[in-house]
Amino acid sequence: MSAPARETMRRGWCPGTLRPMPTGDGLLVRLHPPRNALTPDQLAHVAELARRHGNGQIEVSGRGNLQLRGIREEAHPALVDDLLAAGLVDEAAGDGPNRLTLTSPLAGRAADELLDAAVLAETVERVGRDVTGLPAKFSIVVDGGGALALDGFTADLRLRAVTAEEVAFGLPDELWFGPVARGDSPALVARLLNGFVAVSGQSSGQVRRMRDLKPDERNSLAVSCGLAPMATPPARSKPAPVGLIAEQDNRVAVLAGLPFGRSDAAGLRRFGELAREVGTHEIRVLPWRGLAFCGLSAYAAAPLRETLRNEGLIVEADDPRLAVSACAGAPACARGEVPALADAAVLSEAMAALLADGLGLHVSGCAKSCARPGSADLTLVGRDGRYDVILAGRAGDAAMAHLSSQELVRRLEPGQDIRARLEAARH
Ligand code: SF4
Repeated sequence: MSAPARETMRRGWCPGTLRPMPTGDGLLVRLHPPRNALTPDQLAHVAELARRHGNGQIEVSGRGNLQLRGIREEAHPALVDDLLAAGLVDEAAGDGPNRLTLTSPLAGRAADELLDAAVLAETVERVGRDVTGLPAKFSIVVDGGGALALDGFTADLRLRAVTAEEVAFGLPDELWFGPVARGDSPALVARLLNGFVAVSGQSSGQVRRMRDLKPDERNSLAVSCGLAPMATPPARSKPAPVGLIAEQDNRVAVLAGLPFGRSDAAGLRRFGELAREVGTHEIRVLPWRGLAFCGLSAYAAAPLRETLRNEGLIVEADDPRLAVSACAGAPACARGEVPALADAAVLSEAMAALLADGLGLHVSGCAKSCARPGSADLTLVGRDGRYDVILAGRAGDAAMAHLSSQELVRRLEPGQDIRARLEAARH
């Protein structure tokens, strides 16, 4: 395959199903199933398509998308036809965002949701699509107010249910407005987005996201749209990313993490079979790189959790691998300067105690930092076959050392300098 075109190597370029991104192992095709939901048969079908048209490697992205890797260029049209026929493509025409809204993974199902966030998100998505000029990565989190929230996810706008009938509007830096009646919220979203486009249009390209506005400019924008400032809604604890979660009607969902957010076609097919066997009709893709098997009886949920554990999925909230972000790296990605995924497996073992203690590790194949744009306690960025070692920072920050993976493992042993600095920063 020819080298990726300059246009598609641009940092932040967002591959969709219809506009795939060339990588080292072929095309990367991003799939956003409608409502982030698949039936067991659809999951098995995606696995089969990944195998038939690509190298069978499948990732779950940090926004709850499925990414099929190694798709052959000549096979892409057939793959798109197959996905369209299966109702698995959620793409909008034009140059706008692939999808504006991100909802909590069990939206419309969670027992503690104050209102149906899935229904609200569909309405917000529709009105948002009518706003021309929104940047491609503009995002709106729609939050039903339950515990399984997306508070740690970056967003240009948050809609958070505060009662069954009222929604608060949140802008970056905890600027909150409202509450407004939920029936009025789509029109207010449209007004706010149109206002943002107008302001960004006057900025000569300097304002691309809501956070690019100064806090007083964000405040003025919201007030000019008819929103009134309000106190920050109560903070919530970070939700357990895996385990059993109560749904409505005494149903239960089993949430399981894919190690480093990855599986292969055989694994995905197997998860579809397991779901079918226990009577799950819906599988949600989790934005923290896993799958939720929904609608189970309590009787069926516990055994399924054990089966998933035996299949290699993460089902315990204190599993150290949940604290690791890693991209494909070399050789799967053309830009990879180190084998990030293989090294992440070794490093997560070497750092198991630190990770279980809450430390975050990011292993990136290159400076593009696809797996985690934000900072981590330890960020490792591939460069010339070694890693730039960054403590409490992100790719691009000053590195304290440039080390091979073997040297890194050695300096993460008890009593060695990098481990000591990480431990000191934790306490
Ligand atoms: S960060 Fe990883 S996946 Fe992204 S371009 Fe670099 S090597 Fe590839």
